[in-house]
Amino acid sequence: MGLQDRSELATAKRVVVKVGSSSITGANEGKLELLVDALAKSHAAGVEVILVSSGAIATGMPLLGMDSKPEDLATSQALASVGQSRLISRYQQSLERFGIVAGQVLLTAGDLEAIETRENAKRAMDRLVSLRVLPIVNENDTVATQEIRFGDNDKLAAMVAILVKADALILLSDVDALYDVPPSNPGAKRIDYVGFDEDLSGVEIGGSSSAVGTGGAVTKVSAARVATDSGVSVLLTSTDLVAQALEGAEVGTWFESDPSINN
Ligand code: GLU
Repeated sequence: MGLQDRSELATAKRVVVKVGSSSITGANEGKLELLVDALAKSHAAGVEVILVSSGAIATGMPLLGMDSKPEDLATSQALASVGQSRLISRYQQSLERFGIVAGQVLLTAGDLEAIETRENAKRAMDRLVSLRVLPIVNENDTVATQEIRFGDNDKLAAMVAILVKADALILLSDVDALYDVPPSNPGAKRIDYVGFDEDLSGVEIGGSSSAVGTGGAVTKVSAARVATDSGVSVLLTSTDLVAQALEGAEVGTWFESDPSINN
């Protein structure tokens, strides 16, 4: 069973944090430092932190003079190839302030399906955290084909959290929580807690409005379901609130994991 309550996040053994492209690139480029500050604090407190970060394609766009997300796979792959190394070096530069070393882990959906590659990835990530490295995971966009792409990193983050047997997964978004109706509607109410298997059919869940990422609340809720079904509790909140989230504050929406599973 995952953590019982978000207040336990500060003392969790292992936490996976997922951040999306729009939170750390373009106008929000500066937020990467705030994210790293929060991750470094948890790392220093002894929490094994694994980051799943999107942003390769968005980082590549200005480098190749493009201002909108391409439609075709080959251009996306080229942008990811250019942007991924730049993204990791931005993280590394920021982590250096805390003496933390980053480890890049690129995975495809196929890697996580086949037993051998899945176990291999798990072994590598276990070793990285035992060496006090901060693994930074992304989809291996340059080799993932359309049919087998995760496409959005919310699902990838859920699969990684299950693989490494994380106590919890924190999904960061540009909205601070799940709301009963789209948060821009007057009177929208924050959903504090979603019980395991709770019916969310009454909740109006929106897609992404971001120009650079994919996802939105739809992919986050479905990733949360995947994780909680396998015993990983999930906190959905905004990138701005990541420090509070990792400190165990009452922010975001908490998804209870299957209480019958003992991880
Ligand atoms: N892997 C893609 C990237 O790094 C992003 C996928 C997503 O939007 O979640 O650009």
